[in-house]
Amino acid sequence: MTIFRGTVLDTPGELGDPAGLRAAEDCALVVHGGVVVARTDPASARATYPDDDVVDLRGGLLVPGLVDTHVHFPQVRIIGGLGMSLLTWLRDRALPEEIRLADAEYARSVARDFLRGLATSGTTTALVFGSHFPQAVDVLFEEAERSGLRVTSGLVLSDRILHAELLQTPETALAAGRDLAERWHGRGRLRYAVTPRFSLSTTEAMLDVCGELLRAGGPGGGRWFTSHVNENVEEVGEVLGLFPGTRHYVDTYDRHGLVTDRSVLAHNVHPTDHELEVLAAAGAAVAHCPSSNAALGSGLFPLRRHLDAGVRVALGSDVGAGTGFCLLKEGLQAYLMQQLLGADGAPLGAADLLHLATRSGATALGLGDEVGDLSVGRQFDAVWVRPRAGGTLEVALRQATDPTDALAKLFTLGSPADVASVWVGGDEVTAAYTPTAGERR
Ligand SMILES: [Zn+2]
Repeated sequence: MTIFRGTVLDTPGELGDPAGLRAAEDCALVVHGGVVVARTDPASARATYPDDDVVDLRGGLLVPGLVDTHVHFPQVRIIGGLGMSLLTWLRDRALPEEIRLADAEYARSVARDFLRGLATSGTTTALVFGSHFPQAVDVLFEEAERSGLRVTSGLVLSDRILHAELLQTPETALAAGRDLAERWHGRGRLRYAVTPRFSLSTTEAMLDVCGELLRAGGPGGGRWFTSHVNENVEEVGEVLGLFPGTRHYVDTYDRHGLVTDRSVLAHNVHPTDHELEVLAAAGAAVAHCPSSNAALGSGLFPLRRHLDAGVRVALGSDVGAGTGFCLLKEGLQAYLMQQLLGADGAPLGAADLLHLATRSGATALGLGDEVGDLSVGRQFDAVWVRPRAGGTLEVALRQATDPTDALAKLFTLGSPADVASVWVGGDEVTAAYTPTAGERR
């Protein structure tokens, strides 16, 4: 069907694998039915598949589609609220905007802005925090289906503390969650995630409902679970006060059966050692959102402690509290944060940053057999980075000494402006969103 020819960089091994980066200059990826069926040199590909079209991507870098494991759909229009800590930012910025999504048409326009933001940043797969309103979640899934992106999302549940408009009862949450999950889970590239906002805004009764919704998906291949944990010291203190007798924040979820290998908890900046043990034993993953953690002053993420404990970690942009959709920037921020931690930090190389933004995310979301690298047998989810001639990234890449150096330059300088094309399952998804090649130059 199609032969994609270019310089391919990916990280098919484990995070921290000394083999690290797999780099192939002038590589040919043969894609049939959206799947990579051969990975070879251009002459061999041409000889074996003489009828296939050739898409020439030389002059840039082809990397796997980026995977965002924590990003809030309703917050695209409030990015940039600097100068606040978590609970103030929620009260003054995030929640007033989230209330506006009660209007389904408003929600639809936000969903389109949101999905465009993902696609044009090279994000092909995302675990998306939905809305508190069922009709807005329906709208998100409708638009996500149209976009072609791989989206896992769900109704955000809360029954205390937040503005009254954002609250449900456990009974209404159960009915609405069931209805949405039955409609959308497993439909094409879409999946359902049970999504309490955080323990702070959910009672034991609501967390019971979450457990029921999660178990209703059945064992294996079932629904997903996501929420927030240990983001901010003040928040952690309030949560522990609301759950007397609980061992720690992770336990507020764990005792309702919500910490499994299909669980992704965002932030975890302030975990206890026992929480890390619980997460590792369950096979749960943590979505590390470095820009958000820095912007809200939440703290320096203890990546080394996570990795030493065996907890899986991937990247999230968070979006409203973060600084945009670009996972290249999140990779850079993760690197900078570990540098600031000095001896307590986990030193990250360029290959690690690519892994965190692709393969780590795919495995955290249970999609490691389908996406996350560009091996034979994977879906062709890919990003072609083609920096503008004369721009700083293009200038720096020309001086790159080897593929690892090129990748380091990409994470340091890359932005959505450098994303030329994005494919999901072999289909180009950015065509509807980005200027044509001629307009770019
Ligand atoms: Zn969040």
